[in-house]
Amino acid sequence: MTIKVRDTSFDQCIKCTVCTVYCPVAKANPEFPGPKQCGPDGERLRLKSPEFYDESLKYCTNCKRCETACPSGVKIGDMIAVARAEHDSKPANLKTARDFVLSHTDLMGSLATPVAPLVNAATSIQAVKKLMHKTLGVHDHKSLPKYSHGTFRRWYKKQCHDQSQFSKQIHYFHGCYVNYNHPQLGKDLVRVMNAMGIGVQLLDKEKCCGVPLIANGFHHKAKKNAEFNLQHLEAAVSRQDAPILSTSSSCSYALQQEYPHVLKVDNSQVQDKIQYVTRYLLQAMLRGDGPRLKPLNKKVVYHTPCHLERTGGGLFSIELLKLIPGLEVKVLDSECCGSAGTYGFKSENYQTSISIGNKLFRQIKESDADLAVTDCETCKWQIEENSALEAIHPVSLLAMALEI
Ligand code: SF4
Ligand code: SF4
Ligand code: SF4
Repeated sequence: MTIKVRDTSFDQCIKCTVCTVYCPVAKANPEFPGPKQCGPDGERLRLKSPEFYDESLKYCTNCKRCETACPSGVKIGDMIAVARAEHDSKPANLKTARDFVLSHTDLMGSLATPVAPLVNAATSIQAVKKLMHKTLGVHDHKSLPKYSHGTFRRWYKKQCHDQSQFSKQIHYFHGCYVNYNHPQLGKDLVRVMNAMGIGVQLLDKEKCCGVPLIANGFHHKAKKNAEFNLQHLEAAVSRQDAPILSTSSSCSYALQQEYPHVLKVDNSQVQDKIQYVTRYLLQAMLRGDGPRLKPLNKKVVYHTPCHLERTGGGLFSIELLKLIPGLEVKVLDSECCGSAGTYGFKSENYQTSISIGNKLFRQIKESDADLAVTDCETCKWQIEENSALEAIHPVSLLAMALEI
């Protein structure tokens, strides 16, 4: 169901400019006027006439750090995303083709996974990277994410029967990254849940949550995906009243917050059921229902992804990590890694992306840690590329500490 009411939170702006201070792009790119001007100030003008739409809105990474900082609850990032959807044009050129390839993760994933070794080898060749830089505008310093040879769903099919034997269940929205790039994270979640006596159920079907589609201007497709996913989320919950968990901080943020506020899709039937996984796990562990853990004598640094910061969910991940015996956890003074999904892959954004992330990379390099930990897949790629330290998900770390 579509929500028709227009967001008027711009009216609550008290012009304090705190959002601009916290915007990572405003600090790194002088061409970006910042959240106050692009958000509430610009929205008033755009309502008068579409001529006031400013092309520089494309520099916004949709990180929502401005919303986290705003004392008045103005939905600045959402406002910018909606304005881009309403006013941005998609001309038929190579950059639009690139944006299509980067954002249609389901399509690319299902084409690439059957021939993953070939695709991974081809996209690692320096000459191919240079060609993609020159033609499509995918920066040649970036490595495209590697595909898994076989999807998570295919692996899960063999586990289906065992999972249904548990008396307690959760629904799992795995997202594109787990399905096509890193099934191991989904397998780790299944292990952790099973160690707690909980079975994992997948939705009958799911599509990309829509985050990269929103960011790349394919708003209509993102909305269709949201409607499709909601239909399957509602069906799953009506079959079995259980929480819906996600291991991607951006997927869970989109399902819960961006569906109604950006895509105007009513998710009220399931909104309260959707949780980012570490909140669920921490609550279970504090109740004494957690898995049995062995000491993990490692030093880790933790980076809070933007969309988790927006919901205050970083705290759950941090407290969960602290419950792993033997683990030394240092929380980084994270602002943003600069990757912002597909943003940092584009040649025109690459320098901004690196400038934003530099402070984070420096802290990691100086940390003497064994591993970096973060909840977001694109933070992982950005950290690994720019600090040479492996970055893993809190659930995978928990799986490493399982006694069985
Ligand atoms: S969403 Fe992020 S990049 Fe966009 S205006 Fe807000 S803080 Fe800046
Ligand atoms: S932080 Fe909020 S209230 Fe302050 S200028 Fe930005 S939008 Fe307005
Ligand atoms: S990749 Fe992570 S830190 Fe970077 S913009 Fe996205 S959520 Fe923020």
